[in-house]
Amino acid sequence: MTAGAVGPGIRFDQVTVAYDGNVVLDRLDLTVGPGEVMALLGPSGSGKTTALRAVAGFVRPVSGRVHLGDRDVTDLPPHKRGIGMVVQQYALFPHMRVEENVAFGLRTRRTARADIPVRVGEALEMTGMSAYAKRYPRELSGGQQQRVAIARALAIRPSVLLLDEPLSALDAQLRSGMLAELARLHRELPEVSILYVTHDQIEALTLADRIAVMDRARLQDCGTPQELYRRPRTEFTASFVGSANLLPVRVGPGADTVDFAGQPLATTTGGARPGEDATLCVRPHRVGIGAGPNALTGTVAEVQWRGDTHRLGVDVSGHRLTADVRELRETPALGDRLTLHFAAEDAVLLPAAGPSGGSDV
Ligand code: ADP
Repeated sequence: MTAGAVGPGIRFDQVTVAYDGNVVLDRLDLTVGPGEVMALLGPSGSGKTTALRAVAGFVRPVSGRVHLGDRDVTDLPPHKRGIGMVVQQYALFPHMRVEENVAFGLRTRRTARADIPVRVGEALEMTGMSAYAKRYPRELSGGQQQRVAIARALAIRPSVLLLDEPLSALDAQLRSGMLAELARLHRELPEVSILYVTHDQIEALTLADRIAVMDRARLQDCGTPQELYRRPRTEFTASFVGSANLLPVRVGPGADTVDFAGQPLATTTGGARPGEDATLCVRPHRVGIGAGPNALTGTVAEVQWRGDTHRLGVDVSGHRLTADVRELRETPALGDRLTLHFAAEDAVLLPAAGPSGGSDV
């Protein structure tokens, strides 16, 4: 595949989609840079596929615009957008051989006849499927069929690739192999912007340059995997990307101390107003055993051995504090008193979730 100019990227500008008056995508503002992989991560029904379909042109926004680079494509039909799309169920034509399936998009786009075998050959090679060109889809495994679907999307040399839960029909082992394959394809196609819909945080953390977290038709948070993990901006992100202790606290007079059940705790991330209710987010693997800064003592209520770690749950003033610890000299018993601690820099202060869950970003 020739490395063309840097791809155009995708821009959602206040895109709203509704079905029968029900808003399922609410004023989405999001930019995917040229050559960037953006994961849309969120639970089922949060509007991820709808956002993807708005880029592809299969659904028309009730308001807002979709841009590919400097082109406003909102009114363009799907086949004029230069987009490759792969969906969960492969959607291969069963009566066509692999090579015909891959050529399909080229034919509908009226690619010059002589170019078609070249493009098909390239796409099959990129996906490791050259040896299967003459087979029918029924003669392939699920993973191989998905490779063909990816080859078909790549054959048109798209500047934007849309992937909708492309691995969710595969079993766990195939999935991790395909994840590595997708990462390799991205390295080989550094100019292609990829929008990747998934509800699986491992896929998002593994593949994406940035993750857009969706919930209830809204964008909740957006950042690199590291940013979202270390500095989530909402409770929803904190618990959806990795696991999190979420302690209800009240912000102290200085914004870097909070009160948790009558005990002062230090945080480094302010932004909240004194006296306000807030939530303190601490990742379980950042919690240690024994005395230290931000020490909390409670009753052991959970002990789980997880192979390389122990997960300990300690109830402190009616709230569960969870620690994932690697080194454990002595395994505590249920009902023991135990002190846990965490550093101020690992304690991220978040706005308390309102009745609607997350907050706007
Ligand atoms: P996700 O991809 O996050 O699972 P979707 O974008 O598929 O979510 O769906 C968002 C919401 O829109 C869901 O409540 C879904 O039922 C609804 N929806 C999706 N497609 C249609 C449609 N064609 N007609 C009516 N409602 C739809």
